[in-house]
Amino acid sequence: MEDSKKNKLKEILVLLKYMGFEKIDVRSPNTSPLSNLEKAVAGCKKCRLHETRTNTVFGEGPANADFMIIGEAPGEREDEQGLPFVGAAGRELDIILELAGIDRKDIYITNVVKCRPPGNRNPDMDEIESCIGYLKRQLEMINPEVIILLGNVALSLVTGTASGITKMRGKKMKYLSYTAIPTFHPVYVIRNPRSRELVAKDLKEAKRCIG
Ligand code: SF4
Repeated sequence: MEDSKKNKLKEILVLLKYMGFEKIDVRSPNTSPLSNLEKAVAGCKKCRLHETRTNTVFGEGPANADFMIIGEAPGEREDEQGLPFVGAAGRELDIILELAGIDRKDIYITNVVKCRPPGNRNPDMDEIESCIGYLKRQLEMINPEVIILLGNVALSLVTGTASGITKMRGKKMKYLSYTAIPTFHPVYVIRNPRSRELVAKDLKEAKRCIG
C-alpha cells in the first residue's frame, strides 16, 4: 500500500478507535498483499532451510502496526506452530513487553529468516540473503515507525556482521528508511536475567519514537 493511503487508513482507524470502535480487526485479510506474500513464503524453497522445516513462520500482528519486532529465526515451538515467539523466548518477550508497557496485540513480530535452522543454529549468511527480500516486502507493506532488532542476527541487517549487540544495543540507527533500535534477544535475557531491564528500557525508547 502507498504511504499516503496507509497514513489515511491509520488516521481512519485512530478516529474509529476514538469513537469507541475498539475491536476492529486490522490484521491482514486473506486477499491482502501481506497475505499473498505469506502464501508465497509458505511454498518457498529458495534455501536449504525448506528441507527441514515443519512450517514457515511468516509473522504475526496488525498489518498497519507502528511497531515491528524482528528476531533472528523460528525455534522449535515456532516451527511446530507456524507462529513467531511462542516458545520460551516468546514468554520472555511477553514479560519484557509488559515491563515496557507495550501490548503485544499492537505490534508486528517476525524474523529475519522464515524457516527454522536445524538445531536452532544461527542462520547462515546465504540463507539470510535468500530470505531477506521477504522481510523487506513486509516492511514496505506494514511501514512501521520503529523497528526493534533482537540479537546479533537481526543487527547484522544494519552492520553486515553477526556480532556487536553488546556494544550497539540501545543505539538508534537506520535500516533502509526505518528507525531501528537493536537490543538483546529474549534467549539471551533468559540466560542473563539482569539484562531484562535493559531490553525493557530499549523498548520504552522505541515507544517514544512513535509520533
Ligand atoms: S528461510 Fe526463507 S528463503 Fe529459505 S526456504 Fe525458508 S522462506 Fe525460503
